[in-house]
Amino acid sequence: MHSRKRILITGGAGFVGSHLCRALVGTGADVLCVDNFFTGTRDNIIDLLDNPHFELMRHDVTFPLYVEVDEIYNLACPASPVHYQHDPVQTTKTSVHGAINLLGLAKRTRAKILQASTSEVYGDPNIHPQPEEYWGNVNPVGIRSCYDEGKRCAETLFFDYFRQHQLRIKVARIFNTYGPSMHPNDGRVVSNFIVQALNGEPITIYGDGSQTRSFCFVSDLVRGLIALMDSSDDVTGPINLGNPGEFTIKQLAELVIEMTGSRSQIEYLPLPTDDPMQRQPDISKARDILDWQPTIELRSGLQQTIQYFSKILPT
Ligand code: NAD
Ligand code: UDP
Repeated sequence: MHSRKRILITGGAGFVGSHLCRALVGTGADVLCVDNFFTGTRDNIIDLLDNPHFELMRHDVTFPLYVEVDEIYNLACPASPVHYQHDPVQTTKTSVHGAINLLGLAKRTRAKILQASTSEVYGDPNIHPQPEEYWGNVNPVGIRSCYDEGKRCAETLFFDYFRQHQLRIKVARIFNTYGPSMHPNDGRVVSNFIVQALNGEPITIYGDGSQTRSFCFVSDLVRGLIALMDSSDDVTGPINLGNPGEFTIKQLAELVIEMTGSRSQIEYLPLPTDDPMQRQPDISKARDILDWQPTIELRSGLQQTIQYFSKILPT
């Protein structure tokens, strides 16, 4: 018999996954981290590698996996547009075949399974802020579709396994999250702006910078994911997890320049196709059902992220 909870985290060597691995090892669980290192690295979890309650396995979730676990957090999938558009077919496979393989594993082991879904399921939303009831406005054939539709299909699979096989499922719709351990070449806006500001390079705003995003600090998100996994079995979601504080991309650029004291200038580049104009989570459900809400203001989260990048960037 095993006395510790056995938790599988796919994508555990990535940005969010590495924070989640650390938090769950901290709760006294045995954590199995599965990753193919497409965007994640061993460096993100280097401090855990000697821990007897942590195990790292190189594996691609588009192939079946046979392990015995009690809980599964399915995070495997590149999240930055630059990386998920690099091999779009593999991105859809990761979301869809990955979900099928892990749901199959959950069915065999009767493990509880949580899906890291995304605000991208709302596409370029025409309802603002976005509640979970909103079905979204997603282009099925554009350059973001491999990610958006892959994640939407994964949600479908989760709910079909729930209805058809009575699995215990949890679907979290995660809004833009940032923090330490982001890769300097991640390509998402917060890491790009901080790296550019620290290197004295131009800050690249796509479009006129009037599009908005709501930024959640990673420790807040990790708390939310664990609260969702630990909630009672009737809580399936989908449930929004994010910080409702909404900023334009131009405001973010100005804040990063101010906080780093950088002399970088802003450079305006073309807006990529299908780039959503606005995004803000309605988190009433997370507040009511999980008693969860973010606590880290953008300024304070940026401070910690700037500190992290100052340490890892070559001087
Ligand atoms: P990330 O790119 O840093 O991490 C993804 C991890 O998955 C990486 O370690 C990568 O190597 C791994 N991976 C990719 N394809 C794989 C495969 N086929 N098999 C095994 N491992 C694979 O991204 P992140 O920001 O940490 O995102 C984690 C999860 O959360 C993703 O599923 C993402 O869609 C979701 N999410 C993140 C955000 C955010 O803002 N960070 C927002 C919405 C949803
Ligand atoms: N963006 C930007 N400059 C960058 C990177 C991103 O202006 O160097 C913009 C991007 O066009 C989008 C927003 O910032 O409007 C958030 O982009 P990100 O890639 O972080 O995530 P998204 O929410 O679009 O998936």
